[in-house]
Amino acid sequence: MAKQVKGRCRCCSKEYARAGMLKHLSVCAERGAEADKETGRSTGYFELLITAKYRKNYWLVIEMEETEKLKDLDQFIRDIWVECCGHLSSFNIDGQRYDLEAFSDSFWDLRSENMDIQLKKVLRVGLQFEYEYDFGSPTELIISVVDYRKGKQKKKPITILSRNNPPEILCSICGENNANWVSPEGFYDGTPYWCEECVSAEEAEDGDYPEFLLPVCNSPRMGVCGYGRSSDYEEES
Ligand SMILES: [Zn+2]
Ligand SMILES: [Zn+2]
Ligand SMILES: [Zn+2]
Repeated sequence: MAKQVKGRCRCCSKEYARAGMLKHLSVCAERGAEADKETGRSTGYFELLITAKYRKNYWLVIEMEETEKLKDLDQFIRDIWVECCGHLSSFNIDGQRYDLEAFSDSFWDLRSENMDIQLKKVLRVGLQFEYEYDFGSPTELIISVVDYRKGKQKKKPITILSRNNPPEILCSICGENNANWVSPEGFYDGTPYWCEECVSAEEAEDGDYPEFLLPVCNSPRMGVCGYGRSSDYEEES
């Protein structure tokens, strides 16, 4: 099995793979000390593990205030991981679908609710639910509610507790350098990843280099549609 990608605890900087990180976060002393310093009004936080369904190297552990809404979670996921050109998205929780705009379709017997609903109305510890961004070329995520705690309100309703370190991706051409670019078409012929040198070499030879390249980035949407990278969040932090 491939080596598991680790992430860093934002509170104490220790590194663990995904499962180890969840265990660590429940006992991290630094995290406890930070929570003790909170001074706002009383509130509650859900701890969420967000994992890409088919690219499991990409994961996030966040803490989110219970009074935030599904649409806020949608916005966070867009900002950090998936937003390319304003596609639609939806959550599926306990068999109920939630969209930005509720709709019903009698032909498909589909009734969706609006994402304008507080987390505490729909989430509970132990629940696993799904998220999908862009129904055409979807990025699908699995979100697990791993914990809940009472606490005091913080300045920001969402705290990133940990995030996978950028997975090492080697150039498909030379097999040596880290890749800088991803060619969506290359997924079909086995040459998705390119380093600067190999792109330049092909260009110089007027060779068969891919015309459409997207940046390698720390996101499960890398190389899909026109995804560049997040402008709101640093990649490795
Ligand atoms: Zn820690
Ligand atoms: Zn797009
Ligand atoms: Zn190369």
